[in-house]
Amino acid sequence: MADGVTFPLLGLSRLRMGTDGKGVTTLAAGAGCPLRCRWCINKRLLAEKQPEWIAPEELFERTRIDNLYFQATGGGVCFGGGESLLHADFIAAFRELTGGAWKLSAETSLNVPEAALQTALACVDEFIVDIKSMDAEIYRRYTGGDNGLVLRNLETLARAVPPENVKIRAPLIPQYNDAADQQRSETILREMGFSRIELFAYVKREEDAAL
Ligand code: SF4
Repeated sequence: MADGVTFPLLGLSRLRMGTDGKGVTTLAAGAGCPLRCRWCINKRLLAEKQPEWIAPEELFERTRIDNLYFQATGGGVCFGGGESLLHADFIAAFRELTGGAWKLSAETSLNVPEAALQTALACVDEFIVDIKSMDAEIYRRYTGGDNGLVLRNLETLARAVPPENVKIRAPLIPQYNDAADQQRSETILREMGFSRIELFAYVKREEDAAL
């Protein structure tokens, strides 16, 4: 286990159902992300509160209260963000504490170093990927980043993880893409072998525009 790894916890949300894949889950929301999406909820959270850096043992102590729910429903802990895979070493250390009894899932944009994804492949059961858009230019305009790494990591994920363990969210993003772009993203993702693709729309709040 990596010594001294910590996680920048913004908050825990217990007893979630239907949002983080199978079973009852606790969401551990973390700070930090390499992207700068226009309508980012994490920006708002960071503006409101500072993260608390906690050790894997501390997170285990705080989440084990729902152990029976997790085991009875096939649920567990979902790491969200922010970009959860920036903390892949932490998730690996947390996995050593939980053993295989809990499902560990990770919400990610996949815009992370390939080494981080490799670490996650060994300890994460289910990946929930917010893909933004598969179009490089729309992606750049909305996130400020390049999606080359995302495409490479998607290919790795498609090879390494059964499709039922990957959920990909392809949003309609106000002012940045349209339904046709959403459909194009879905087509490319299906051609790559992914089958759990959720099309949905971001809801832009007025206060987001000010952040
Ligand atoms: S990937 Fe998520 S956390 Fe990161 S900037 Fe975009 S919306 Fe925010």
